[in-house]
Amino acid sequence: MELLRKVSEAPGISGFEYGIAEIIKKELEGHTDKIEEDAFGNLYVHKGKGPKTIMITAHTDEIGLIVKHIDEKGFIRFAKVGGVPDHVLLGQRVQVHGKNKKLSGTIGCKAIHVMKEDERKQLVTYDKMFVDTGATKDQLTKYGVRVGTPITIERGVTELENGLIVGRAMDDRAGCYMLIEALKNANPVNRIVGVFTVQEEVGLRGATVSSFSVRPDVGIAIDTTIAGDHPEIGESEAPIKLGSGPTLVVADGRRDSLGGGLIANPLVIQWLTDLAEKSNIKCQFEVLEGGTTDATAIQLSREGVPSGCIAIPARYVHSFSEVVSKNDIESGVRLLVSIMENPVPF
Ligand SMILES: [Zn+2]
Repeated sequence: MELLRKVSEAPGISGFEYGIAEIIKKELEGHTDKIEEDAFGNLYVHKGKGPKTIMITAHTDEIGLIVKHIDEKGFIRFAKVGGVPDHVLLGQRVQVHGKNKKLSGTIGCKAIHVMKEDERKQLVTYDKMFVDTGATKDQLTKYGVRVGTPITIERGVTELENGLIVGRAMDDRAGCYMLIEALKNANPVNRIVGVFTVQEEVGLRGATVSSFSVRPDVGIAIDTTIAGDHPEIGESEAPIKLGSGPTLVVADGRRDSLGGGLIANPLVIQWLTDLAEKSNIKCQFEVLEGGTTDATAIQLSREGVPSGCIAIPARYVHSFSEVVSKNDIESGVRLLVSIMENPVPF
């Protein structure tokens, strides 16, 4: 739990994931064969030898904001990095990561009292919001806050009842935690390359370049997925449940067509299903309309790579309060260890 908290609370919007890479490096030092980084910021952790190269990814970046403009009084307008829904932004506390000082701030907008009747009925969009740090423009300059400075939402990890936890960036720090734990504990029978990828939330960029250099025989992405077990999603719409085990993603992609996504190689799904059965791990199967993961980039690398995705069910994904089950995460770690310690049957 301590490690999960540490990786979940470390700030790192897409393109600014350095801090998380440092934590992972420190955590895995001495437990693996080699750790290296590429020019893009991806972290590669090598462990084991064997006939197959298995690439397993977890993305280190989180969704967030970036400074777009600072006005004369020091109010900051921002752009969104990744799929940030406007309606979860209002009233959030933030951290503005100035080069010389980390500043606290809050997201402001017009108060309801001064909104006109039609304004009150409308969703306030992010371009009508701004960050207030209390600092003047000159102070912001002194603190190294300028156009392009990353902004993260200020939210820690909190334990809920029945083994559930809520955190700002379980997508995909839960995956990072699982990959760290599995790499630490497994005795692989294949060549495992754990890749902590950057810039997933803005288009699978880290996985695209890293799968080219790793040249894997098999690719597995670890990520989070949509749990629909709450009052606002119908069961047929999102049948995945918290606490019912990690999800094997059979297919995902755009809503209506599954375009731009992954159709998992059936051999990979069968292999993962057999491993889960053998290790007594309960799993769920999923076809997800409306999103995809690093596995999509890996499968399209070079001549094509059989790929799959193991996803941890999460409620309220991309709301900065993502709820996951510790049991699902621990089952996911066991499944990953089993992937590393057993031969690939194809
Ligand atoms: Zn993700």
